[in-house]
Amino acid sequence: MSAPSTTPRSAVANSVWPRLEPLLPQIAKPIQYVGGELGAVVKDWDTAAVRWALMYPDAYEVGLPNQGVQILYEVLNEQPDVLAERTYAVWPDLERLMRAHQVPQFTIDAHRPVRDFDVFGVSFATELGYTNLLTAIDLAGIPLLAADRSDADPVVVAGGHAAFNPEPIAAFVDAAVLGDGEEAVLEITTIVREWKAEGSPGGRDELLLRLARTESVYVPRFYDVDYLPDGRIQRVVPNRPDVPFRVHKRTTMDLDAWPYPKKPLVPLAETVHERYAVEIFRGCTRGCRFCQAGMITRPVRERSITTVGQMVREGLEFSGFHEVGLLSLSSADHSEIGDMCSGLAQQYEGTNVSLSLPSTRVDAFNIDLAQELARNGRRTGLTFAPEGGSERIRKVINKMVSKEDLIRTVVTAYTNGWRQVKLYFMCGLPTETDEDVLEIAAMAHEVIRAGRAATGSRDIRCTVSIGGFVPKPHTPFQWAAMARPEVIDNRLRLLKQAVNADRSLGRAIGFRYHDGEPSLIEGLLSRGDRRVSAVIRRVWENGGRFDGWSEHFSYQRWVEAAAEVLPDFGVDLDWYTTRERDELEVLPWDHLDSGLDKDWLWQDWQDALGEYEQEDCRWTPCFDCGVCPAMDTEIQIGPTGRKLLPLTPVNGLRVPSDAQQ
Ligand code: SF4
Repeated sequence: MSAPSTTPRSAVANSVWPRLEPLLPQIAKPIQYVGGELGAVVKDWDTAAVRWALMYPDAYEVGLPNQGVQILYEVLNEQPDVLAERTYAVWPDLERLMRAHQVPQFTIDAHRPVRDFDVFGVSFATELGYTNLLTAIDLAGIPLLAADRSDADPVVVAGGHAAFNPEPIAAFVDAAVLGDGEEAVLEITTIVREWKAEGSPGGRDELLLRLARTESVYVPRFYDVDYLPDGRIQRVVPNRPDVPFRVHKRTTMDLDAWPYPKKPLVPLAETVHERYAVEIFRGCTRGCRFCQAGMITRPVRERSITTVGQMVREGLEFSGFHEVGLLSLSSADHSEIGDMCSGLAQQYEGTNVSLSLPSTRVDAFNIDLAQELARNGRRTGLTFAPEGGSERIRKVINKMVSKEDLIRTVVTAYTNGWRQVKLYFMCGLPTETDEDVLEIAAMAHEVIRAGRAATGSRDIRCTVSIGGFVPKPHTPFQWAAMARPEVIDNRLRLLKQAVNADRSLGRAIGFRYHDGEPSLIEGLLSRGDRRVSAVIRRVWENGGRFDGWSEHFSYQRWVEAAAEVLPDFGVDLDWYTTRERDELEVLPWDHLDSGLDKDWLWQDWQDALGEYEQEDCRWTPCFDCGVCPAMDTEIQIGPTGRKLLPLTPVNGLRVPSDAQQ
């Protein structure tokens, strides 16, 4: 464990490589700690005015492809006087050796100690990375608790979707940034640069105060939380006069002005995605009530077809990747997705470049899109996400897709040569019954039956993949009770039996699911308050690492830690997870402004219980969710009417004809 330290940061940031290298033959996958990938940047330490260490708190193979970190890494390194390096969670085998040999948490770019940087930025896609944050802070030699840090320690800043409720990690981070990061990191950099140039007046406290005054950086130490006798929060208020009552999210409005990544990182070791990924739009107003990403990233902002085309061309040229991922929360909803796919397919026809859409809405997928995605003969995986098995539950979650839509869509894929599709559902949704879940089996049977009839082949398969529902902050389901793990597990057991009840159809259906226990812990962390930090710390002290990995996750460890520390506060694990909140309860994140109006969210929750659907404001009048007026933003969608031009052969090379103009 680290003790409070006031040892000054090293002015030279000596590389730990000489001490790390002899350890590498003793561990699995040493290549992941070596750095030097195509796209990696190493800058001069001494001439940098501001130095960032950026972390994705998971293993290299998951962390390297993360778009958020790649974008911020490039945006920061483009600044002449700014240096940014990356660090990832080290596996327990290396952690043991690092502790034994006193090797601190290091960046993989120049193997510099993380503690020597000015800012340590950590991007959380999931709350299950919290214990890895503690490992990294502790290995770095930074005091675990923000309150114990000195001017010699970096400012630890959390970002990413989980930062929209950073209260469970408020004890461990100095600040959290809500929303889009591109402009936020530059603003933070400016504040740090000026503060350092002035001779660091007022020390760490003054720097944090300057960050808090931007109104988009949340500094937990400047807010006090009062509790009611029954454990609920009474209020969260600033404890000094010059910080805002509410902290607002950042929204990057013009995606064309931020065409990153331009130089994507090409991994040395195997990673979960090896492709050039371009975000084709940000935000989603489909209004799926469980979807935190859709709610907190509103409004929809499209990247134009021409910027996407240029990014793909330059990204592929730089990286040599053979797959292009057109990313967003619902890629087939881009107003020019058809032209984009056909333009790219045409440009790369005859090459080994393939296109993929990560997850496709059932109602937005059509035959043209299917043909464009398959044009070069390669068919990357297709995933459709009806999310709910019955029409009734799909109304509750506002996933407006019918069984007929799904069957028609999947048959389109089968008849266009796909032999395998994946269908994603959730279990444990509000108001859900066994019958709602059992309808997933009927749907999967129907998919196989219709697919066989349409193709005349028995060689088709579908995989039913089931995730546990976790209510998230800033969504209409933020008030909902979670189902107990035993209820989820029983429903999944019944579903598996129902899928296999027809042997002929069941053989063509794969079944993947997680049991309900990790979801319950994710629920504790996602809707937790500051008292939950004691649970996280206890779990970590008891060996908790890589909680997002089933082979490392221990439900028992979390349950025991919660039972040990929460009773002191008069609450327990159930209180945080299986308890429904009422309208007037102060939620731990109410002082963090995602732009969504709380009254609108409550009304949408009531509509969910009444099984009423909500339209998409891209195509219907605004329904006053609050985001656009609160954030001074607006929906930005096309079509632009422009097309991607085909490639023209020049001297045996194929270059885009628009590049020659
Ligand atoms: S404020 Fe209106 S237009 Fe903007 S995201 Fe909300 S519903 Fe859509």
